[in-house]
Amino acid sequence: MARAIGIDLGTTNSCVAIVEGGHPVIIANDKGERATPSVVAFTERGERLIGSGARRQAAVNPDRTIASIKRQMGTSWKKRIDGKDWTPQEISAQILSKLRKDAESYLGEAVTDAVITVPAYFNDIQRQATKDAGRIAGLNVLRIINEPTAAALAYGLNNGLPQKIMVYDLGGGTFDVSIIEIGDGVIEVLATSGDNHLGGDDFDERVAQYLLSEFKRQYGADLARDPAAMGRIREAAEQAKKELSGTEQANIYLPYLTQVGGQPAHLEATLTRAKFDALTADLVDRTAGPVQSALSDAGLRPSDLGRVLLVGGSTRIPAVQEKVRALTGKDPSRSINPDECVAQGAAVQAEILSGTGALATKGDILLLDVTPLSLSIETVGGVATRLVERNSRLPIHHSQIFSTTAPFQRSVEIHVLQGERPMARDNKTIGKFRLNGIQRAMAGVPQIEVTFDIDANGILTVSARDLSTGKEQSITITANDRMSDAEIDKAIRDAEMYFGDDSRYREAAEALNDARKLAFDAEKMLSDRTRQMDKPQKKQLKQEVAALVKRTAKLKPEKMTDEDIRAVREAMEQVKAAMDGGADTGASDDKSAF
Ligand code: AMP
Repeated sequence: MARAIGIDLGTTNSCVAIVEGGHPVIIANDKGERATPSVVAFTERGERLIGSGARRQAAVNPDRTIASIKRQMGTSWKKRIDGKDWTPQEISAQILSKLRKDAESYLGEAVTDAVITVPAYFNDIQRQATKDAGRIAGLNVLRIINEPTAAALAYGLNNGLPQKIMVYDLGGGTFDVSIIEIGDGVIEVLATSGDNHLGGDDFDERVAQYLLSEFKRQYGADLARDPAAMGRIREAAEQAKKELSGTEQANIYLPYLTQVGGQPAHLEATLTRAKFDALTADLVDRTAGPVQSALSDAGLRPSDLGRVLLVGGSTRIPAVQEKVRALTGKDPSRSINPDECVAQGAAVQAEILSGTGALATKGDILLLDVTPLSLSIETVGGVATRLVERNSRLPIHHSQIFSTTAPFQRSVEIHVLQGERPMARDNKTIGKFRLNGIQRAMAGVPQIEVTFDIDANGILTVSARDLSTGKEQSITITANDRMSDAEIDKAIRDAEMYFGDDSRYREAAEALNDARKLAFDAEKMLSDRTRQMDKPQKKQLKQEVAALVKRTAKLKPEKMTDEDIRAVREAMEQVKAAMDGGADTGASDDKSAF
């Protein structure tokens, strides 16, 4: 069987690894680099550059250079270059193809099977987009796994003590914290948090701004609008930052940066570790919030953690390591290169799944992950009825029975939503489909089973089935309807912010729906069971129904007060009491309805 590779498809850098002799090894690219910058460029001459070549010319060719495409995965982002519209999947596929070719030249044979990693918070659409990118690159994606899970595999933690660990991942552009639990052959993500716009690039920017100000101080000239000079300054800033992870002082010298007054101007500066720490202290501090919220989401204290793993090149910064120590009370593990351990773990998983080599005998590892946001469907009154809670473990199979609200309703629309808000309109639509051919029946009678299936890759399929006719429809959520990272963050924040108003709105909408349904059931009872009811009961029921209809006629859920909701509920109680006088009401049961 062919050998399978592990790929860390990163925002800033990507990395490929394979297991050899029972150990994961990083495969260097054709330039001898162990990480390939995730940058793709199209030169004016029609050349395509991938990796450090692309990155180097980015400052002078910004319109035809694409960096950080991972942020766009699963969105409708497009870039038109030379008459072709490029999607995030296609750009990512360029990077994956390069990694695949590098692996092929290292191994001297064709490679098709791969495991690719994604952030633990990636939603189903982003995972699907990543899988599609793999397919475009000619890869057979054995599995999409979470980056923190891969880190744990690289450390071999799956073969040791059951424990809960934290993975602190500070890369080039993003910060992710995950709490994972490692049990007997099972790795489960308990909680995730992070900041999508915090990473090594921000540290570079601080140093670059410092160098700019030094240049201005020396020459009185501002270089901010000179892209070529800025490109060199940014490169030097990153270099100095990296040096300062190992030394106390870095010297920066950029000769012939520009001309000032017709004379060549060189930038010469010294940056001490202490100055660097002062320039970036607030960035380091910003990692504290997500660490605390991941711990509290998982219901843990720092002392419950067995280990803390460092992932991402920026965790080499001493002040970052110090911060992790202060936040967790633990000395973080960093025996594996932080920028390589995700690819190594992916290679371990690839080896296990492809069933080749020594690791295969240790058996498959069941990877349990979580959904980043709750999933619901829209039910009557625009309510989002939740089927899967946020942070539920994958894989998931969940069914619930729904019914209809109108008599003889022959079709229902299944509107699939992602988000934490109680009302459908405030959540993100991730799919919609119609189930036709429902059995002709009174409202509330048809039984429609809605099932959510989320597989181990986090890809969602929703199906609806009429239990009496057996008619079924389903969709697999694809990348056309999507939710970005920012939208996910916003959804969580909004849910917290609007919780008060939302609950009132939802209660109001539910009260109105319940009232209308009850009025309908009561009218039905008056016509169907007219012989079994005596005159006073009929009169009483008619009066109560009329009162309920009048009470609700002009109400709108968004304008209803607590008092309105209570009055509607009271009027409903009166109707129910009048119906009870007539024994078996025949009213439909309490299923949610479309
Ligand atoms: P990653 O996305 O994990 O490849 O991380 C890339 C980021 O790590 C970039 O911002 C790099 O500048 C940063 N990085 C790499 N090596 C070091 C180092 N020795 N010290 C500080 N930052 C580093």
